[in-house]
Amino acid sequence: MMPVMIIFDVDRTLTRSKLPANSEMVKALSELLATKRVGIISGDSLSILKRDIVSLLPVESDFGNLFLLPTSGAALYVWKQEDWHEVYAEILTGEDTSKIGGMIRSACEETGLIDLSAPSYGERIEYRGAQVTLSALGQQAPIEEKEKWDPNGSKKRALRDAIARLLPEYDVKTGGSTSVDVTRHGVNKAYGIRRLSEHLSIPISEMLYVGDALYPEGNDEVVGETGIATRQVSGPDETLQIISEYSNG
Ligand SMILES: [Mg+2]
Repeated sequence: MMPVMIIFDVDRTLTRSKLPANSEMVKALSELLATKRVGIISGDSLSILKRDIVSLLPVESDFGNLFLLPTSGAALYVWKQEDWHEVYAEILTGEDTSKIGGMIRSACEETGLIDLSAPSYGERIEYRGAQVTLSALGQQAPIEEKEKWDPNGSKKRALRDAIARLLPEYDVKTGGSTSVDVTRHGVNKAYGIRRLSEHLSIPISEMLYVGDALYPEGNDEVVGETGIATRQVSGPDETLQIISEYSNG
């Protein structure tokens, strides 16, 4: 299959955990944009996607072919007239966010896994408009610390389960290596892909999804609901290989 559009996860697919895209990746994406539409979907906020990927792309890149889906697909941004414009954003209300924040705190206490009064690397609970994210060690925690904290992902899953029990009317998903994301019910990467397909009038059957966590319980697994073709990668090096397969047509 030659897809007309390729959608990439970010963390451990385009980038190493929470690091900016490297120069090879930036070059490969820019080349891909010359012939294909490219989607980038991530639990990160729009500002982080801009900082770690978009702002690093060469200025001559075809940004009109680039589509940004931050906060796990809860919002879509397109490039028009030299700027990013919102197509939709499933913003949480003030009532939603205070309830979600409160329940996240209860889950931290209940599981005993996070002491919210202890120092952290930046905020632990971040309000990203369409999503509330809990980062176990704080938003700016170094990757080595994160890997040490939860090498097999069991703490992250226990937190996810505890939060989901307290917030049955929302979607609660594991995010990056130490994070849990809460969005409106039904708003997730599959939702983002469906909205993107509608917006561009490109059938999902002509799209390809590339991610590192398509396995059961992984944070890319949900895209399978849409029937999109997928490629599993172990990290950015394999993603570069896949991009090179599709860069010339
Ligand atoms: Mg990932």
